[in-house]
Amino acid sequence: MSESEALIGFGSNLGDRAHLINQALQALSELPQTALTKLSSLYETAPVGYLEQGAFLNGVACIRTALPAAALLKHLLAIEKSLGRKRVERWGPRTVDLDIIFFGDRIINDVDLVVPHPELIRRLFVLEPLNEIVPDWQHPELCESVSVLLNKFQQSHPLEEPCRLLSAPVDDALSKEKVNDGIFYRYSES
Ligand code: ADP
Ligand code: MG
Repeated sequence: MSESEALIGFGSNLGDRAHLINQALQALSELPQTALTKLSSLYETAPVGYLEQGAFLNGVACIRTALPAAALLKHLLAIEKSLGRKRVERWGPRTVDLDIIFFGDRIINDVDLVVPHPELIRRLFVLEPLNEIVPDWQHPELCESVSVLLNKFQQSHPLEEPCRLLSAPVDDALSKEKVNDGIFYRYSES
């Protein structure tokens, strides 16, 4: 069976954000035919869009999966649901948001799934953690690496608030190799 490497963006701005992210990552690692291989640090960012809400914690995870992209999306939506996400307003507060950022070098334009994620080049809270774990990943449509895309964004938006690095990986060896059980508890809000 062929496996793909995919990048999953995660974010939370409601409740115990770090705990919710830990739970989402745990669930992600337990998906069938899927392994979590790399995890970025956590980044804190002011909300975009609807501004009257709390700050987000964001990061990205790299997985290897034999699931097709559409099946992976279904699983991500189920994880969001199990962690209590209620869809009230599109850009409003959410317990956990899970997005497919890249899926190998696939380009997907379905009604319910667009990959690479169309907003990624405009979101520092995606570009920064991506640049931390996969700086050389090529955007399959733009044919530029993540590090170049981040650089270009910073050049063209010099005043954009940077995301604040909140927590670096506790055990660097784990984040470079396979992510093992227990690593999900490294994020805390204190
Ligand atoms: P956003 O993540 O843009 O803040 P939502 O999470 O509320 O907004 O949007 C969820 C919907 O977006 C999903 O039901 C899904 O069908 C659709 N969608 C399209 N492309 C993607 C993607 N790459 N990753 C996750 N969801 C996607
Ligand atoms: Mg989403």
